[in-house]
Amino acid sequence: MTKGRCLCGTVRYEIDGPFSNMAHCHCSMCRKHHGSPYATWAVAPLAGFRYTGGEEAVGRYDSSPGFRRSFCTICGSVVPDGLESAGMVICPAGNLEGDPGIEPGLHMFVGSKAPWYEITDGLPQFAEYPPEFGMQAAPRTPADASGDGVQGSCLCGRVAYAISGAPLRMFYCHCSRCRLGRSAAHAANVFYKADDLRWVRGAELVQEFQLPEAQFFGTAFCRCCGSALPRVSLERNVAVVPAGSLDTDPGIRAKAHIFVESKAAWDRITDPIPQFAEMPPRR
Ligand SMILES: [Zn+2]
Ligand SMILES: [Zn+2]
Ligand SMILES: [Zn+2]
Repeated sequence: MTKGRCLCGTVRYEIDGPFSNMAHCHCSMCRKHHGSPYATWAVAPLAGFRYTGGEEAVGRYDSSPGFRRSFCTICGSVVPDGLESAGMVICPAGNLEGDPGIEPGLHMFVGSKAPWYEITDGLPQFAEYPPEFGMQAAPRTPADASGDGVQGSCLCGRVAYAISGAPLRMFYCHCSRCRLGRSAAHAANVFYKADDLRWVRGAELVQEFQLPEAQFFGTAFCRCCGSALPRVSLERNVAVVPAGSLDTDPGIRAKAHIFVESKAAWDRITDPIPQFAEMPPRR
């Protein structure tokens, strides 16, 4: 049995398993919902899935016909979704505790991969769904990013932002809080000066969550669709932008994998980007 939970701990669940599949999805919907370069999904029989707490806090957004995306309305973590017709539950692997006993087997939707992310492992890659899934991709019109500067938006499109200044740094963070908050292998955050970020629309829909036991850690997400959004920290004068929410190339690439000592059991780092057990030393 595998347990899973959201970042704030309100939504909790158990999965009897066994997991039949684990796959990385690079589609724009997964990228926006998680805010990460890709989502990693673990598939198990729906009959063996149950909530053990917080089901009333689960928000739902219909991202395409027949596809629902669920999230914790308090912290924004992605929550598993049942595919009733197939009798399966699809779980965001970043929220699973311990080793689920399966590893990712493929990359799908690499045709819509983020321009700033490079796949370097040897797993099979599929432009959309692998043929054996027997599923048709739902077409999605990309967000309008014809304005100036770097732009981003949530999955439902009600929230959009623009950034005027240059990026300060970009990291892939594998710490357990980022994994739970992004519901993915790791966060991919681009840091800007706080003043450089401007909400183009929907600022009133941006909900923030501050992890009580942490000094600085928090998340921000769209109240309507649960997508990860930038979080502005005025006391540190930074805007932490989840790169998966970007609609344009930020022009920066990740300089380090950080907190790799707490990475998930199923997470394999194969790129040449420097790795640090925790934070890189200050220069
Ligand atoms: Zn939560
Ligand atoms: Zn996807
Ligand atoms: Zn939204």
